[in-house]
Amino acid sequence: MANVLGIDFGGTKILVGVIDTDSGEVRSSAKKRTVVEHGHGVALAHLQAAVREALEAANVTARDISAVGIGIAGQVDSTKNELTRAPNLPQELLGKVIVEAVQHEVEPAATMFNDVAAAAAGEAAFGAGRGHPDFVCVFVGTGIGGAIYRNGEPYLGATNTAGELGHMVIDFNGRICGCGGRGHLEAYASRSAMVRTILAAMKQGRKSTLFELVPNPNPDDAAHVPIRSKALKGALDAGDELVREMLDDGARFLAAGLASIVNFYNPPRIVLGGGLVDAVDYFFSRTAELVPREALRVPAGDLKVVKAKLGDFSGIVGAAVLAGQRALATA
Ligand SMILES: [Zn+2]
Repeated sequence: MANVLGIDFGGTKILVGVIDTDSGEVRSSAKKRTVVEHGHGVALAHLQAAVREALEAANVTARDISAVGIGIAGQVDSTKNELTRAPNLPQELLGKVIVEAVQHEVEPAATMFNDVAAAAAGEAAFGAGRGHPDFVCVFVGTGIGGAIYRNGEPYLGATNTAGELGHMVIDFNGRICGCGGRGHLEAYASRSAMVRTILAAMKQGRKSTLFELVPNPNPDDAAHVPIRSKALKGALDAGDELVREMLDDGARFLAAGLASIVNFYNPPRIVLGGGLVDAVDYFFSRTAELVPREALRVPAGDLKVVKAKLGDFSGIVGAAVLAGQRALATA
């Protein structure tokens, strides 16, 4: 049995697990908040505490760990194993800081990967991509990320940036995206985009059960309000009309983007995951229903749009899988 430590280091939460990379079993997991507003020191302390908790819960010691993989919300230079860009994290974490923090707790040197690449690898090995060498993976949460699997391998493109479908243009004169571009899918169909439009409507006087969470809605502050995917699910279940409308709009935009992928790339399978898809089944089923209607008839014919299987664990399982493969390749 190969015990590999998998870490998912995001702007909101840090998830750490001990993964058996032979079976994909998550033997233990520990979750902490990143609390980026308290600075990088707190985030690193939370990371180390989560590593210790995960080891203890799996009843293994630091020595039983054969490899360590970290999926990070940012760009990673894989040749140097350095974090080069991370807009949603404190900039003190760039370089090897996170790798070194983990090194205090376990013996094997950690390898860093982009979080979407890690989550897709998790789904490919043990989730909804298992047994399907060709599929496109799309994760919807704070942003929208994607990955392409071809013949069982990730397709990276000429500059290792393939799969960035959150930045597909769906409205030439549209909303400004977090990347600075205009009219990108992510500015319409990500959770943060939907939260922004919900807050704007509330400010205009629309009623919503979310007033309990955000008494003074300010759409410009959408990134910092406590409306996560679970809160949207709660509001939807409570019959909140505004939230249902916005989820419908988001699903329409996402389906339009995915239909473009279907027409252009003709994949047999799309795996949809991420916090919003995981928490709000309604959003998934609306999107899955709309994609074949928006796409051309022939490529839509045999297309399967399925939900990611590993949920919250796709990132830690995938980071562990990739780290295990890397360890084997360099051994
Ligand atoms: Zn963009």
